[in-house]
Amino acid sequence: MSALVYLDYAATTPVDPRVAEAMSRHLTLDGIFANPASRSHMLGWQAEQAVESARRQVADAIGADPREIVWTSGATEADNLALIGFLRANRARGRHLVTSRVEHKAVVDTATALEAEGFEVTWLTPGRDGRVTPAQLREALREDTVLVSLMAVNNELGAVHDLAALAEVAHAGGAAFHVDAAQAVGRIPLDVTRQGIDLLSLSGHKVYGPKGIGALYVRRSPDIRVEALIHGGGHERGMRSGTLPTHQIVGMGEAFALAAAEGESDQGRITALRDRLLEGLADIDGVHRNTDIAVAVPNILNLAFEGVDGESLLMALRNVALSTGSACNSASVEPSYVLKGIGVPRRLALASLRFSFGRFTTEADIDQALSALRHALTGLRR
Ligand SMILES: *Cc1c(COP(=O)(O)O)cnc(C)c1O
Repeated sequence: MSALVYLDYAATTPVDPRVAEAMSRHLTLDGIFANPASRSHMLGWQAEQAVESARRQVADAIGADPREIVWTSGATEADNLALIGFLRANRARGRHLVTSRVEHKAVVDTATALEAEGFEVTWLTPGRDGRVTPAQLREALREDTVLVSLMAVNNELGAVHDLAALAEVAHAGGAAFHVDAAQAVGRIPLDVTRQGIDLLSLSGHKVYGPKGIGALYVRRSPDIRVEALIHGGGHERGMRSGTLPTHQIVGMGEAFALAAAEGESDQGRITALRDRLLEGLADIDGVHRNTDIAVAVPNILNLAFEGVDGESLLMALRNVALSTGSACNSASVEPSYVLKGIGVPRRLALASLRFSFGRFTTEADIDQALSALRHALTGLRR
């Protein structure tokens, strides 16, 4: 029996061995293990240096200043800090937030919690390609809109938003612009200055770094204010307290430096792999693309297989690790709210799988997945 093929990179990526190696040097007694906030000895300074060097690596990957990076436990926390922290800090200016129906749950559920707190949310419905247009956003802005939150790359579809155009509309309406970029680093060009982004959420583990670490970019000029959600010690300029996890941070820094250096060539190779999968499926009937590949990253491909149940198909594909939607939904049998959000009929949404590729995907992986798919579809459709 052949080994397991991993095609679920959008759920998480394996840690790059170069990242794991850097992390391992920041854990044990013979390494840089001290508390980076310890000012009274050399080991503390060394740890602080390691943290600051990683802060620069992350800042460089998105065109930011290191002083604009706030470490968090992941993109979920960064999204919470961006939305709740910004809206609470800017209460006096207005209480309206604009976002979309196909954002990650970290944004959707946070915005819903804010509604219960008395803020108002406009939920934009994207087009069939998974994207909100600048014209749609313009229409939704109000006098009291203070924040717009739209993702860079959709985690289920791969759809890429035109960030610069959307930022321009938000700013013209007097609102700040937050972007969830968890799936974007190393996949599309990111530059917070050129794209006019005020708040940007990042995750380590979607970029071949470790789980449990992320960051929020917070623009300094013009000054963007967020109220802390986690108190105690005043770390990260008061925006996020807690002892900094040196090894996690070093890992994320190394991962982001690698993404900046190798992301483009990774994506080139992955495009060929995605196309190989599509070509291999070309002669199978009833395969629909939920992903509009003209506007999507090559590493995420969402497909519907007419006449089969997605869960049964996953079951039959025992040797291929895939997802029917976002990993966070895999316990429920409801169709993906993202597919529903772009108007995929329920019947097809329930027959959909997300293929996501990455740095370590090979042609042999694609071929093995194709033959498994062929076999499973024939069996299930019989
Ligand atoms: C994975 C993901 C998140 C959550 O990131 P964590 O670091 O796991 O908290 C948020 N948004 C998007 C788009 C994601 O893909």
